[in-house]
Amino acid sequence: MDGGVFRLKQRHSLYIVIVSLLSFVLLGTVIYQKVGDMMIDQSKNNAMGLSVIAANEIDGDVFETIRSNEDDAYYEVLESITKYTDYHMLQYIYTMRLEDDVLTFVVDADPEEPAYCGEEYNWLPDMEQAFQGQVCCDQSLTKDRWGSFFSAYAPIFNSDHEVVGIVGCDIMTADITERLNELRTVIISLITVFALLCLMALIFITRDMMQKDYLTEIANDGKIKNVASRLKKRNRLQDYTGMLTNIKDFKYINQKIGFNRGDELLREYAHYLKQLTIRGEYVARTGNDNFLMLIKKGREEEVLKVLSLLELTLYEQDGKNVIRIFSRCGIYPIKESDNLSSVMNYCTLAVNTTRNADTEDYVWYSDSMSITMLEEKEIINSYKQAIKNGEFQVYYQPKVDIVNNRLCGAEALVRWIKDGKTISPGQFIPVLEKEGKIIELDFFVFEQVCKDIRKWLEEGIVPVRISSNFSKMHLKNLALSEQVLDIVNRYNISTNYVEIELTESSGYSDYNSMKKFVSDMDQAGIYTSIDDFGTGYSSLSLLKDINVNVVKIDKSFFGNMDDDKLNGATLVENVIRMIKDLDRIVICEGVETEKQVEFLKGTECNIVQGFLFDRPLTREQFEERLKSPEYGRFDENNNI
Ligand code: C2E
Ligand code: MG
Ligand code: MG
Repeated sequence: MDGGVFRLKQRHSLYIVIVSLLSFVLLGTVIYQKVGDMMIDQSKNNAMGLSVIAANEIDGDVFETIRSNEDDAYYEVLESITKYTDYHMLQYIYTMRLEDDVLTFVVDADPEEPAYCGEEYNWLPDMEQAFQGQVCCDQSLTKDRWGSFFSAYAPIFNSDHEVVGIVGCDIMTADITERLNELRTVIISLITVFALLCLMALIFITRDMMQKDYLTEIANDGKIKNVASRLKKRNRLQDYTGMLTNIKDFKYINQKIGFNRGDELLREYAHYLKQLTIRGEYVARTGNDNFLMLIKKGREEEVLKVLSLLELTLYEQDGKNVIRIFSRCGIYPIKESDNLSSVMNYCTLAVNTTRNADTEDYVWYSDSMSITMLEEKEIINSYKQAIKNGEFQVYYQPKVDIVNNRLCGAEALVRWIKDGKTISPGQFIPVLEKEGKIIELDFFVFEQVCKDIRKWLEEGIVPVRISSNFSKMHLKNLALSEQVLDIVNRYNISTNYVEIELTESSGYSDYNSMKKFVSDMDQAGIYTSIDDFGTGYSSLSLLKDINVNVVKIDKSFFGNMDDDKLNGATLVENVIRMIKDLDRIVICEGVETEKQVEFLKGTECNIVQGFLFDRPLTREQFEERLKSPEYGRFDENNNI
């Protein structure tokens, strides 16, 4: 899944927060309206009830005795009625007498504006129901009701049960408004509290988002930085060991299974690492497939043991696929003076050494690694001048046909001779590769080879095909083929005399460029070979697609073969057979014993390169070998 489930989940949380807030506002508004309506209905009922009570208090016949508002009877009636004024919403109460279709105020309890007793009043259609003996209310609810009033009417009967007047109650809605305002304040307060909660949730989610790795959902480097500085402040950081792990050959795995499933694998891996930690330990993804763990001191071996057993399951359309994952790990026990960045540096130095061929996958930091780093700097700084000073020299290691014991080719191998000491390529080539400087050196070696071949041709020495190592970095150069041909043409030598070796680990990442380069070389008649076959990730299917002429089986195969004769030998035998079936020349590297030669004679591989025949030779020594290309018999010490 692209971008990660996590981002999606976070976005969902945001939606949930926003939708909840809106729903809460909507709900508040609806409650406010409904409660308002209920309160008004209730008031209306109360008002009508009150007018009925008031109407019952008044004897219709008494109207005869009330002539003015100064009459005692008036006060009696008023008193009897106004004792109900403690009904909070009652504002005015009045009685009206009906005489010859004329309504006259009898009693008016409006303290502000009392009507003149005996004053006539026009009929209002809304009172009509009251004159027909019913209790009614004159106003329906309107939108502006909050500030207005409405009246309830009840009929007054005389002793003959005839309606002779009415009681009206004016009800102010101000009180309702006040109470609704209170309700509104409560609702607004609740919404505010809820909004604050939402805001806090948002802040939490955002903070969470910023501290979590979007892909694996574990802590990111920002989070581990915070954790480390917190531990440092509390003087606890030195209780931990930093363990920087990554997935061995993840780049290759990623290309093989596809990036989406590579992401899935990373998530699984992160989950696995998280499970490895106990309370108070931390793990974070610091980038790509790199994870930093802060493990409590003393638990390192336990963690490494579990890490080494790692198997992850990937689910595919057609079922599940268990992938065996190997980790590399740089381990550094933290000291009091450290901070996270120094821990990262030391762990990185340690984990980087695991990339060297002979190193374990789990490496504890040692001070010599920092020294190595300084040495690397020294290599980079002095490299340019070294080329100018002619400190780089090309050695030639013969390839031998074991059928006739004759020299049949050679490999050019560079040496750096500095102050009389020889530095082996293993020391400086990885450094130059890291710094991107290897390209220049490879061309230097290749040109030197062409120059030597020219020289030998001119001197009448018959050369053999010489292979030169080209770093995989060259494959990024679109003009590589032209540059190679340009050098060959410059020295006017046959393309038959040169060969380009590419390491197999470059096979996948630069698959297309490799394919094109090999095909260009093929057209130009220049051999290409895959070096160190069996150590990287070339597969036989890659060989089928990429038309290299030669496959060089790595020397590590023979190490196996000697100790565990049966398995190792069977493996080599079969690999050779399969390569031969693909119609490629096979060369076995690192042949050191006669026994190995005897074994290879029984296979389909007849070309070998190894110390048994020759170590890499200086140009002068190799010239001698060219002049006498036959190898004799071996003595007991494997010397010829
Ligand atoms: P490679 O290309 O696989 O070269 C073969 C290495 O195996 C050489 O190591 C050679 O000395 C060693 N070797 C040969 N026969 C035996 C044997 O019988 N036993 C053992 N133990 N080793 C044997 P060297 O010269 O140290 O080179 C190491 C690697 O450095 C080369 O491996 C190649 O990858 C790289 N290299 C050397 N020269 C160049 C160069 O000019 N350019 C580039 N890019 N890489 C180079
Ligand atoms: Mg090689
Ligand atoms: Mg090799």
